[in-house]
Amino acid sequence: PQTLAEISTWQAQYQGDSIAFVFEEQSLTFREFDQRANQVAAGLLAVGIEPGARVAILSKDSINSYEVLFGCAKARAVLIGINWRLTPQEIHYILQHGNAEILFISRELLERIGAVKSELPSLRKIIVLDGEFEGYSGFQNWRDQFSPNGVGLTYSPDEVVVQMYTSGTTGHPKGVQLPNYSFFRLMQGMREQGDHWMNLNPDDKLLISLPQFHMGGIWWAIQGFIAGAQGFIIDTFIAWKVLELIERHRISKVPMVPAMIQTTLAEPSCETTDLSSVRGFLYGGSPIAPALLQKAMQRFNCGFFQIYGMTETGNMAVCLRPEDHSPAHPKRQESAGRPLPGVEIRVSDISGNALPANAVGEISIKSPANMIGYWNNDEATRECLSEGGWIRTGDAGYVDEEGYLYICDRIKDMIIYGGENIYPAEIEAALCEHEAVAEAAVIGIPDERWGEVVKAFVVLRPGQAIKARELINFTRNRIADFKAPKSIDFLEKLPRNPSGKILKRELRMPYWAGQVRQVN
Ligand code: ATP
Ligand code: MG
Repeated sequence: PQTLAEISTWQAQYQGDSIAFVFEEQSLTFREFDQRANQVAAGLLAVGIEPGARVAILSKDSINSYEVLFGCAKARAVLIGINWRLTPQEIHYILQHGNAEILFISRELLERIGAVKSELPSLRKIIVLDGEFEGYSGFQNWRDQFSPNGVGLTYSPDEVVVQMYTSGTTGHPKGVQLPNYSFFRLMQGMREQGDHWMNLNPDDKLLISLPQFHMGGIWWAIQGFIAGAQGFIIDTFIAWKVLELIERHRISKVPMVPAMIQTTLAEPSCETTDLSSVRGFLYGGSPIAPALLQKAMQRFNCGFFQIYGMTETGNMAVCLRPEDHSPAHPKRQESAGRPLPGVEIRVSDISGNALPANAVGEISIKSPANMIGYWNNDEATRECLSEGGWIRTGDAGYVDEEGYLYICDRIKDMIIYGGENIYPAEIEAALCEHEAVAEAAVIGIPDERWGEVVKAFVVLRPGQAIKARELINFTRNRIADFKAPKSIDFLEKLPRNPSGKILKRELRMPYWAGQVRQVN
């Protein structure tokens, strides 16, 4: 099978009695799950959903949200997952931009669409996922009217199956159109070459820690499903609960973004939790401070895989494998790894000329999982995706002689200090080496003499105190003088989006009002 619709039927046939998903006290076998996905598909067709129609979901994750995903795939509809932390205006933007015809929503989020509902002419039906609610269909009753026996459509690997909105770290989220093959081709090609990567298999118990509306969440859940593993769904990431879940169910594979690793290791119960069941740990999505990675490796003591990629590349494109995390090659731990089999990477200057090894430039990726383009945004598509199939990442980095990719930072976050390019990630890592520092974010602020100067925002660990001057001197012993912050503000917490990414544009806003940055 090469499509979400067909893999579900296939799993139901070949390992129908195994558990597909677990959520709180509920679990479903692959057979039960497939039947429910068939019911959802039949229901969508009954409402008049045509191939390619957009269906949206606004909810925390649950088994229902995965039934909706596979149900849409079986109806040949395209699912748009919406981040439930967005404001009504932002939700409205995505529903309208995506032309959503059906909305699945949880009760607690209904109020977020209350005011905007009437302005969405394309929206035909709203279905409440958790129970009945005045004036709306309840998911379970609605679903159970329809046949569990399959809708009899045929499917193509090339057909768009999900429209993922990017994290919106740098601006309005963009609708990334991903066909079925984005979830199958890369891994299948690897398996054919004998590369078993994380060795996902039917004995695995996978933690699905990232939300379905985020590329990392949906991608990991689907890879587990394809491998026939058990997926453990959570609705929000709460460190002590996650630790308890890992111990109680003997979870074997765990993905986390650096912000989750940070809160998990800071959780007091982490010291005493039995983590011996974890055999593979996947991390990525934003730069990780080396000290944090070291701590995570000590505590989890298993194979670590870093992945680098973006929504537009169908998630993972580059991977740093367990053997590269060995103390035998200390420098490699700062790398994002090497392109996966089937993936090509290129580093180029502003004019698009390829650069030699060790030269810093913009990273481009050509992967068999790449998106087909942004929805309804030809201009952004042309800027990002070349005719030859290369995606410009907007990230700066370099490749060493051995083919390892080092990511400096996002180009948009780069600070140009009197003509020198400074990448905030490096300064943030230096700040985080201080024991008083919990987390740090670095931006450039306007300066008459230098163009931009380095400013840091630091969150201290509970009970710690340190003077800005002392912390600045601390960084001077680790990074070149000109990169050391000129000023530091101490904050209670950093502004982040739900995938844990720091929103630099929010930090920059007060300083740059009315001024134009050189890098933009
Ligand atoms: P938007 O495009 O809307 O601004 P976003 O780029 O944060 O949002 P994603 O597609 O979720 O949306 O994230 C991809 C980006 O995350 C990459 O371009 C890169 O900057 C960063 N990233 C991903 N993996 C890593 C990694 N292993 N190390 C460092 N940065 C990473
Ligand atoms: Mg992006």
